[in-house]
Amino acid sequence: MLSLFAQADHSPKVLASIHPLGLIASSVVDAEQLDVLLQPGVTPHDFSLKPSDIDRLQEADVIFWSGARIEPYLSGFARRWPDKHWIDISAFASEASIKDPHYWLSPPSVVAAQKALAEVLGADSTDFADQVAQAVAYSDRVLAPLKERGFFVFHRAYDHWVTEFGLNQVGAFTITPEQKPGMRTIQLMREQLRAGQVACIFREPEYSPALVVKVVGDLPVKQGELDPLGGSISLSRDGYPYFLRDMADRAVHCLSE
Ligand SMILES: [Zn+2]
Repeated sequence: MLSLFAQADHSPKVLASIHPLGLIASSVVDAEQLDVLLQPGVTPHDFSLKPSDIDRLQEADVIFWSGARIEPYLSGFARRWPDKHWIDISAFASEASIKDPHYWLSPPSVVAAQKALAEVLGADSTDFADQVAQAVAYSDRVLAPLKERGFFVFHRAYDHWVTEFGLNQVGAFTITPEQKPGMRTIQLMREQLRAGQVACIFREPEYSPALVVKVVGDLPVKQGELDPLGGSISLSRDGYPYFLRDMADRAVHCLSE
């Protein structure tokens, strides 16, 4: 396959905006050619660019990002520098009814966006698609007995993943992490906990558990941790399929009786 960069005098530099997109890009980009704008564990919510970040953006030939809704700090540059290859994973949304902008947790969107990235680079995407299909099949198998078990997530980051595997997400502590829930939400969540609708609460490593403690109080419920950014997973060829398997394992661990 002929790369768009076949004539170029240097190998194309790819910049992935956030860590999970770095995990995806690593399937077809060597470590020396790949930069990730936000450090692992830094969320795009509330992020703003420093001048040195803008230099890194400018150096990139290909920018792999997740769209204006969750990364508004990049949308102006996408308009200003149309000569770069901007690959926006939100443009590959497979389920229009899901408004959650965390598209990297939608395996079909990820496979389609990675294919577009591979095409720009003249690389083969089939191996990645196979690995993701295997990770999805694995997740389906281990989660199948737990689909009725209710859970709370920390913020509304998981709708694509929850829909993909048909899971029973009962609620979220916040819609986006910058907004604290109101008293009515907290009361409703406590009622759901008391009624036994919730088998597990998933905290997130990026956020303080104070809010979870406030809602849960002394009610007995299992707690686990999910990280929508996969911050503990290092960049490698199979980092993204590993991320999917790890999420399924964490969910099984907390949802099982
Ligand atoms: Zn988020």
